[in-house]
Amino acid sequence: MAINKLADLQLQNKRVLIRADLNVPLDGVTITNDLRIRASLPTIELALDRGAAVLIVSHLGRPKAGGDNAHLSLEPVAERLHELLECPVVLVRDWRNGLNVDPGEVKLLENIRFEEGETKNDLELARALASLCDVYVNDAFGTAHRAHSSTHGIAKYATESCAGILLASEIEALERALANPKRPLVAVLGGSKISGKLEVIYNLKSVADTMLVGGGMANTLLLAAGVNVGNSLVEKELINDAMTILQTAEVPLPVDVMTADTIDVKSNAFLRLSDDIPSREAIVDIGPETARRYGKTIAGAGTVIWNGPMGIFEYPQFAEGTRKIADAVADTDAFTLAGGGDTIAAIEQFDSSNLIDYISTGGGAFLEFIEGKSLPGIEALQRNS
Ligand code: ADP
Ligand code: MG
Repeated sequence: MAINKLADLQLQNKRVLIRADLNVPLDGVTITNDLRIRASLPTIELALDRGAAVLIVSHLGRPKAGGDNAHLSLEPVAERLHELLECPVVLVRDWRNGLNVDPGEVKLLENIRFEEGETKNDLELARALASLCDVYVNDAFGTAHRAHSSTHGIAKYATESCAGILLASEIEALERALANPKRPLVAVLGGSKISGKLEVIYNLKSVADTMLVGGGMANTLLLAAGVNVGNSLVEKELINDAMTILQTAEVPLPVDVMTADTIDVKSNAFLRLSDDIPSREAIVDIGPETARRYGKTIAGAGTVIWNGPMGIFEYPQFAEGTRKIADAVADTDAFTLAGGGDTIAAIEQFDSSNLIDYISTGGGAFLEFIEGKSLPGIEALQRNS
């Protein structure tokens, strides 16, 4: 994919506008997880080191048109950036009449979604943003699946456009896993439902050598294979899709599962063979024999891509399957890539983060990439040459 990278550009005395994804969770004005801010630092620091004047643009939450959106100000983010960068970070609310920023300075524009045109990919807004800079840098992988003024339209008007360090590394990791993977490529898929992930399954089944399934989504596949899944979460309307998947792909189904009568912190988990699930019980996790077999497949993989927990890992008694898969993904010699909000939460819970080769910062964008879709934020940066 021919896109410019920040590291290859001349930045001395240039005004660089970085579209970052600083959409962090807030409790009032307290940032509860600053991972996204920290993930954006390498690009900001590189631009500063190379002598650029830095403008940062991001959205935060979903402001309502005409509503009181004061709680979605980027003020706390500016504060946190200031602490992490150890330099002043000025929050700019009014930039429509021009904005001055000198080399070595960092300014952060107020929540770009306060501008109504942003999510409509309004070209006038895109042009106004482009006029603030000499180089446009998209580093917002988490928003790359959206065509907005600051992620898409702006690239039409900017003199130069490129991918920041984070965006470039996301693309590199995803392409390494999907475009030309070391084989066998093993896809591990779980999560609550099959519905949100059908496209992912359809795309992965054409590129992966094996798909290992767990979580609620496996229930519908088990049902399609004729298994009595008791009281488990299933999507009956997707049974035909599930049958097609089983007929056209290599999908070994769970041979044993953990079940429960009720799903709460005190309920017991029971080990059941997949063909012997009592009708009042629901599947809450993969069983130990399934986890052992999946682990063996993962150990022999050349590449592993993982999205979706294997069970209701939020409760410790239903978390073993996900923990064993996290361990297997951490231990294999394969190139390993994981993504998805809950998957990352599970990986962190099981302390496997450092042992997985790449953890994607994008939830929806990660899923769309592995669905095989082209992401507007990346497409906008592509050169014709
Ligand atoms: P991600 O955010 O990583 O893409 P999902 O949002 O698709 O993952 O799925 C995560 C959720 O799936 C978790 O909250 C987990 O409790 C739920 N889940 C996993 N297994 C089951 C199951 N057997 N039944 C119901 N929910 C499940
Ligand atoms: Mg989720």
